[in-house]
Amino acid sequence: MNIDYSKPKNGMKFRVIGVARISTEHQDERSLEDQKAYYEDHLDRTLGPGRYDLSVVSSRGSGQILDSSALTELAQMVESGVYDLVIAEDLGRISRRIYAIIFCEQAEDSKTRVIAINDSVDTAESNWKQASIFASFKNESFCKDTSARIKRSLRNRFQQGQIFQCQIYGYHKPHAKATDAEVSKLPEAEAIYDQWFTMLEDGCNYRQVADWLNVNNVPTSPYCRSDTWDGTMVGRLTFNPLLKGERVRNKRVAVRVNRTGRSKTEKAPPGHQLSRVVEHLAFIEPERYDRVIRMLKKRNARYKRSETEQNDPRSGIPKRHTRFPGQHIRCGVCGRLYVYGGHGKTLRLMCKGARTHECWNGMTICGPDVAKAVSERIQQIIESLEGFDDAWAAEYERQRVAFSASKNGEVESLGKQLVATKRKLANQIEALDRIGVSDSILERIKELEAEKLDLEDKVAATK
Ligand SMILES: [Zn+2]
Repeated sequence: MNIDYSKPKNGMKFRVIGVARISTEHQDERSLEDQKAYYEDHLDRTLGPGRYDLSVVSSRGSGQILDSSALTELAQMVESGVYDLVIAEDLGRISRRIYAIIFCEQAEDSKTRVIAINDSVDTAESNWKQASIFASFKNESFCKDTSARIKRSLRNRFQQGQIFQCQIYGYHKPHAKATDAEVSKLPEAEAIYDQWFTMLEDGCNYRQVADWLNVNNVPTSPYCRSDTWDGTMVGRLTFNPLLKGERVRNKRVAVRVNRTGRSKTEKAPPGHQLSRVVEHLAFIEPERYDRVIRMLKKRNARYKRSETEQNDPRSGIPKRHTRFPGQHIRCGVCGRLYVYGGHGKTLRLMCKGARTHECWNGMTICGPDVAKAVSERIQQIIESLEGFDDAWAAEYERQRVAFSASKNGEVESLGKQLVATKRKLANQIEALDRIGVSDSILERIKELEAEKLDLEDKVAATK
């Protein structure tokens, strides 16, 4: 298709859209001005000064793409057909990979020229498609190579003891680029961590440890947003192996979601994780630390998602997906979902739009009440099904028989184990008679006695 782009559509001035991006929220507005100046410079040379009107579409966000709202805005502007030209530093500024080419084709349909300066793509030229495909290919491999190179160098620097990032309470890092050899423990933290772990050993929960820390005015890490402790912080910090003198890196890895072009983190495959022993930074003896962690894991196991994933009804579901009826009810006014936390009460649901002042529906409802009402209604429907009573009674009887059979089996196997343990105990006592006092036999007898008591408890529990 050969389109004449040499004259402005409105006959007076070229209307130009500049695509700009500020990669992070912290990057200042200057960067935007710089990008605009760069476009003006280019346009002055190609179209001539004063022959165009430049409006800039900008977007915040990391990564290689415009956010979807900015992209939609841009697409609509192009489709309107009133603009002559879209200018960007590179195609990656507009959209990711292959979509950028589709964007160029759509622009061509509405007779809008697209220029990507650094990629040497200009839809006024006949070979622009080859150039754009090559640019997109080049960008893809460049990003991949760069990412791999950065990861490699960071892993290497970690092995050298550098990138000591995760600074928690109790450590002194003398300067920003300090290696772990230069980092030291604060002497006063020694007793704090000892008491912290003693409390956990005594059965305290994270909240109680946090309260104790607050009462004793223990400061949080200088990098922490909050200056008081809470249970979540205590739990997170307890599980940081730095406390036993071990640094860990790459527990999780970034994976690109192709649908959105952004990345998310996943548990790293085994063997990917790096660790490094830094004994001089240990507050807790590794043996004691591991014991406490084992105990905590056991204690909190019932709140945890299943490790096997097979029996986990919430496997693959993000934790932010809440329990029913949260995120199931829609606002009748704006159609947004109802979420927990209405009127500042945890269990009340409110329109998500009302929370952000985008919807006037201020009504809230009680989550547990709705769940109860809905489940009662479902129960009614089920009970009114034909033949329900008989089917239910038959299923109940089947499960009861199966359960009592497994219970009997369990009792039987416990009984067998108990007999075996008693026999072993008798043998050991006999050996003691024959050989005389021996530390190892006494030790074994103690073990067997404990085992016997444990089994007797279990048998008692089944009755
Ligand atoms: Zn609403």
